Amino acid sequence: MTNYQWELEKVLTERGISRRDFLKFCTAMAGVLALPGTFAPRIARAMEEAPKRTPVVWLEFQDCAGCTESFLRASRPTAAEVILDVLSVDYHETIMAAAGHLAEEAKKQTIDAGGYLVVVEGAIPLNENGLYCCIGGRTAVDILEEATANAIAVIAVGNCATFGGLPKAAPNPTKAVGAMELVTHVPVLNLPGCPVNVVNLTATVVHFLTFGELPATDKLHRPLFAYGSLIHDNCERRGHFDAGEFVQQWGDEGHRKGWCLYEMGCKGPVAYHNCPAVRFNSGTSWPVGSGHGCIACSEPDFWDRPKYEPVVLQEVTPPATYPPVEAPPETISPAGAATVAAVAGLAVGAAGGAALSQSRRRDQAEQQAED
Ligand code: SF4
Repeated sequence: MTNYQWELEKVLTERGISRRDFLKFCTAMAGVLALPGTFAPRIARAMEEAPKRTPVVWLEFQDCAGCTESFLRASRPTAAEVILDVLSVDYHETIMAAAGHLAEEAKKQTIDAGGYLVVVEGAIPLNENGLYCCIGGRTAVDILEEATANAIAVIAVGNCATFGGLPKAAPNPTKAVGAMELVTHVPVLNLPGCPVNVVNLTATVVHFLTFGELPATDKLHRPLFAYGSLIHDNCERRGHFDAGEFVQQWGDEGHRKGWCLYEMGCKGPVAYHNCPAVRFNSGTSWPVGSGHGCIACSEPDFWDRPKYEPVVLQEVTPPATYPPVEAPPETISPAGAATVAAVAGLAVGAAGGAALSQSRRRDQAEQQAED
């Protein structure tokens, strides 16, 4: 048994987390990472056999500290917290006990030793040579460059650190950018959101510890396990979209009945994120579940989108959450089954589109009648 293994068991015991709960957490993490449940024992083993804590330097620039709040948000000890404890956060301005030169010295030692992760929270301003964000007399650009010198990778959390977020909103007076625009010598993984969902940060850490590498990403550097599907395709209100049942006004009958929020400006059809599955606050709820449309906080430039205008639908995709109600006939070949599924998907999509146009026509007719 390694020292860390002993330490993990000790930490679990101290926090009142049973081994059963820990294994349940590993199974849940396999689910979040879109891995079969059979990967759970491998994840558990990786956590137990982690040779040492992975140091983390957590930098905050143009931010509101909301992602830090998300990181710290748990009100009771959970297995996820214990896993995040696997990270040794050597430098974090909001939570570290040290201050001033002592804190800077701790950061320097971590950077000199190498083999650490850098978490970036907040955008980085470039205007006026970076003067709009200075800490200890140094610009965010300088601090980021120094901190990433010997890093394994950068994990950018929240929309500000990934795509510029609120500081980059038009007219972007400070010329704010996300970390990936400046860091090119080490891999950058983006976990956008406003704030980041701590479940996805935990799953990224678990993936890193289990497989020794960061998860596969899309072209915006977002891990596919969390940003591989449209919110719209897994939304609990999707059935109402397909049935043409739309909320028309806040508090109307459709709103009270939980109908689709598309016409109230929901951006779910253009936003990639796993919110419907993992939710927030220990899985309690999420914006659409609470009655407000998605604002696409996982997408670039979301602050500049009109919040309450419906997005233009490029295509209506079939919902992905539930399997088809009717299985294809047994005699059909796999290729034929795929065709049936595709046609069924198109039909569902077309039904959604037709329902939407019908609703629009109904609104226009009602408007003309009122005029
Ligand atoms: S438009 Fe929004 S509320 Fe409606 S189904 Fe799509 S994601 Fe859900």
